[in-house]
Parts: sequence; structure tokens; C-alpha cells
Amino acid sequence: MLKFLVPFAIILLFACRQKAEDAGQFYSAEDFTRIPKWDTHIHINSSDSALVALARKLNFHLLTINVASPSSPSLEEQLQYAVTNTLNGKGQVVWATSFDISGIESDSNWLNKKIDSLDRAFKLGAVGVKVWKNIGMEYRTANGQFIMIDDPRLDSLLSFIEHQNKTLIAHIGEPRNCWLPLDSMTVNNDRDYFRKHPQYHMYLHPEFPTYHQQLAARDHVLQKHPGLRVDGAHLGSIEWNVDTLAATLNRYPQLVVDMAARIGHMQYQTLHDHQKVVDFFIKYQDRLLYATDSGLDATDSVAGVLASVEKRWRNDWKFFTSDELMNAPELNEKFKGLHLPAGVVDKIYRLNAERVFNPGK
Ligand SMILES: [Zn+2]
Repeated sequence: MLKFLVPFAIILLFACRQKAEDAGQFYSAEDFTRIPKWDTHIHINSSDSALVALARKLNFHLLTINVASPSSPSLEEQLQYAVTNTLNGKGQVVWATSFDISGIESDSNWLNKKIDSLDRAFKLGAVGVKVWKNIGMEYRTANGQFIMIDDPRLDSLLSFIEHQNKTLIAHIGEPRNCWLPLDSMTVNNDRDYFRKHPQYHMYLHPEFPTYHQQLAARDHVLQKHPGLRVDGAHLGSIEWNVDTLAATLNRYPQLVVDMAARIGHMQYQTLHDHQKVVDFFIKYQDRLLYATDSGLDATDSVAGVLASVEKRWRNDWKFFTSDELMNAPELNEKFKGLHLPAGVVDKIYRLNAERVFNPGK
């Protein structure tokens, strides 16, 4: 009898051990607070430290990004907020500066002024530089041509960023939905945004550069500056198809992308081919940065912002770590979580951010 039981016991023991090891390879909802994480795309335009305190409580590092947009405070005010929050954050917060290109046509000293202002920001600790979609969608030359991100006059600035070992955060172009009518858009947040911002809804402006022209200009920068680290904000504006995004990541090894305000597009793609999205995250686990595009403005209700940011952080964690059926405000359908291995979660939530924004540390 014993002769039969011993091998059976060994098999049982092995099976149990295997199960325990498997269980250790995935995170659960209970691990959310315990595991260190980064949100690499945040806009804190307030000296209120409540969002930084929430981040600390939930084990998040934050990258707060200055942006030359008309709905944000002046760049100087944003710099002051960023420096204040970085100090308050005691290592929990880093920041990225920005510049605008007004004056590029008229001011012969434009380049020197911009280099000086980037230099000052780097001395104050900025880890990167954000460029915004108004390059390509707003600024024009004297004869009415759009100034694109690959304009040769920007090359010295981009080289300066590279030689200072900083990262370019490029929000160039928009989601492909931007070129579609509202009722053809795939996710609710794009529909809401472009309804409220018709000036950026390119479907209404067929005379502006196309989606492909925007991406071609960005890709041209990647070709001209192969040593420049580039973080393509918002999934590099290739949020609509993981195959197309994969092809761009293959072409430009110095490119990583953040997921800010575009996780809904990944969830949307799981409705058609869940496994394909899982495979994409596993294959490109070194190239993806978790990010939300959350923000806190001086005029916001702080309690309201904290509640919605925490809810989003927890919901996104569930999407990446579990295989549960879930809802998100971006989609009208239920979708299933990606259930990514813990090692992949660690990369997209922390290790890639540390490499890209704290090089050498
Ligand atoms: Zn943003």
C-alpha cells in the first residue's frame, strides 16, 4: 500500500508547491497599497499638498508635468507649483518643465532664451521637458504653414535636452478619434473632450495637418535624434491599435509611451481581442509607463479630486492585475482585466519610470 502512497504524496506535494508559486506571480487588490508605483503623468497646479499626501499613503511616486496650454496657469506659475510639490514630496514627486514656441518667428534671440529657461528648470530639478499638441495644431509661420515638431529650428533645443540627459515628453497629435465625428468615436472620454474643445477636434478642421502628418513629424524627430529619450504621452497617439503601436516601438528603441488618459482605448481593444492586448503588454513590458493625466488645480474641490484619483488608481490596478469583468467610465461595455504577471506589473508601474526619469540613480 505504502508503495503506492509515497509517489502519490510526492505528486501532491509538487502540485501544491507549484500552485503556491503560481499564486506568487500575480498581484491582487490587497497588494495595491503595498507595492511601490508611479503615475508618470499628473498635473498639480496647486500648492495644496493633499494629492501628494494621498500618493504617499497609497505608495505612488508622481511625475507632475508642466504644459504650455491655455487652460493651465502660466509656465512660471506651474514651475513654482512643481518645485513646491517636489519639496513637499520628499522624494515622492519629480517634475517636468515645458516651453512654448511663441516668438519663434519674430524673436531672433528665441533659441537662447528657451535654452536658458530649460537650463534653469534642470538646475531646479526638472527630469524632463513636455511638448504639447499646439506644436502641429496651433502655431503657424508668417505665411500660414503649421509649425510641426520636426521644424529644424527646434533641433538645437532637442539636442540640448538630450545632452542634459533629460527626457522629452511628447504629446504630439491626438487620438485617432480626433479626426472622426463625435458619434464614431470609440471611447466616452474622447467624445466628451472634443465636444467641449471643438478647436482641437480635427474632424471639424480638415485644412489642418492630418493624423498621419502629425505622427510622421514626431517620427522624424525620433529619426533625427536617436539618442534622445522620448516618452510618447498618451500611448504616443497610437492608442487605437496595439499592432500599429508595436511597429512604432520596434522602429524607435529610444521611445517609451505613457498610458495617460488612454487606458480606455486598451480596454476597448480587449472587447475584440483580449489575448492580443495581454500579449502586447507582455512583449512591450519595458516600454510602457502607467499614467493617468489626473490633476489638481488651485480652484478644484480637493476632496472631490482625491476621491476620483484614488478610484481611478484602484480601478486601473484591477484592470492590470485581475481577470475580473469590470466597468470603466470610458466604455459602455464590460471588459475583462489583463491579469498581467507581477514582474510585468512592476515594470509598467515602477521600473520603467525609474529608468526613464531617474537615469543613473
Ligand atoms: Zn496631460
